[in-house]
Amino acid sequence: DLQLSSRVQAIKPSPTLAVTNKAAELRAAGQDIIGLGAGEPDFDTPEHIKQAAIEAIKSGQTKYTAVDGTPALKKAIIAKFKRDNGLEYEANQILVSSGGKQSFFNLALATLNAGDEAIIPAPYWVSYPDMVLVAEGKPVIIETGADTRFKITAEQLEGAITERTRLFVINSPSNPSGMAYTMEELKAIAEVLKKHPNIMIATDDMYEPILWTGQPFCNILNACPELYDRTFVLNGVSKAYSMTGWRIGYAAGPAKIIGAMKKIQSQSTSNPCSISQAAAQAALDGPQECVGEMVKAFEKRHDWLVAALNKLPGVECLKGDGTFYVFPSFQAAIDATEGVSNDVEFAEKLLSEAGVALVPGSAFGCPGHMRLSFATSMDNLEKAIERLQKALG
Ligand code: PLP
Repeated sequence: DLQLSSRVQAIKPSPTLAVTNKAAELRAAGQDIIGLGAGEPDFDTPEHIKQAAIEAIKSGQTKYTAVDGTPALKKAIIAKFKRDNGLEYEANQILVSSGGKQSFFNLALATLNAGDEAIIPAPYWVSYPDMVLVAEGKPVIIETGADTRFKITAEQLEGAITERTRLFVINSPSNPSGMAYTMEELKAIAEVLKKHPNIMIATDDMYEPILWTGQPFCNILNACPELYDRTFVLNGVSKAYSMTGWRIGYAAGPAKIIGAMKKIQSQSTSNPCSISQAAAQAALDGPQECVGEMVKAFEKRHDWLVAALNKLPGVECLKGDGTFYVFPSFQAAIDATEGVSNDVEFAEKLLSEAGVALVPGSAFGCPGHMRLSFATSMDNLEKAIERLQKALG
């Protein structure tokens, strides 16, 4: 009998990728499926970024690079942090990885021992708890709901901290809720963290520019610079520049842990793709108008979609602050449907009977809800709403 490690048995495959795959399967079998499950922008990567990659190939940048990223890209990242976030870093505080996913994976492996607790607010990005489990840590989930716009309070954080807490993860704007923490909310959370110097903090800023609150983006370090020596800022080019396939993410933080993360990466994947690094450098150093144009399109779709969802029976949707997701409650619709008892079954029903692919809230630790991605055309969104109307009506 082939034996599996307990590590791999503790985790599940990414449920968001599973929905996307299931939708692709049904489509391949000839069914007409509208996919609202995707976690990636529908726009093409901007032309000047692609050109930089083509140039990199032509000029022979096709070999191993430094494990932690090329000096040129690290320079661009350092400049980005200074320009956009008012944060100062040295080169040994930066690690470039094959996507934001690998950044968090490295961080979990570098900081957690068996049984160490990582506090994760729900609804969460699906990968945090499983990556903590791979590191043999213990995910401690703080539940939230629409009443707090899916954000934790300082009191909730205080209540979740124990002697074993090593890591606190915060993601704003959030996948899947689309909500962003305000400066005041972050300050209140930081007050709690200040009392617990052994806790490290990961702020996942992957959706930084996709924001329409009218307020500038801020993270926990902007709210509380005192936390600098134990905070990791995770970011990347995947969502902001529509570069999900290029696989470039980066982390900034205390040199000691960044060095440990680099060691892990040196024994797993080595450097991220050399050509993608050249493209990411062009993205960060180049003109930023392309980002604004995508954000404008996302905001327009968001406004339309939230209004349309709120007209559906049994569906309630808050306006989000950013990202390309909305996270409505379908609880009343689920309760009103015979033969269906939860969001997972309801999502399956919508996929097979209405041909609309959504991700059930349970995947994000928040049952009764659905995540809809509006990283798709208005045409598709209109069709999806029509189908949902029929299915729910
Ligand atoms: N962080 C969040 C909150 C995300 O939603 C994602 C992607 O879905 C990532 C990180 C990882 O992005 P990638 O590994 O594609 O760069």
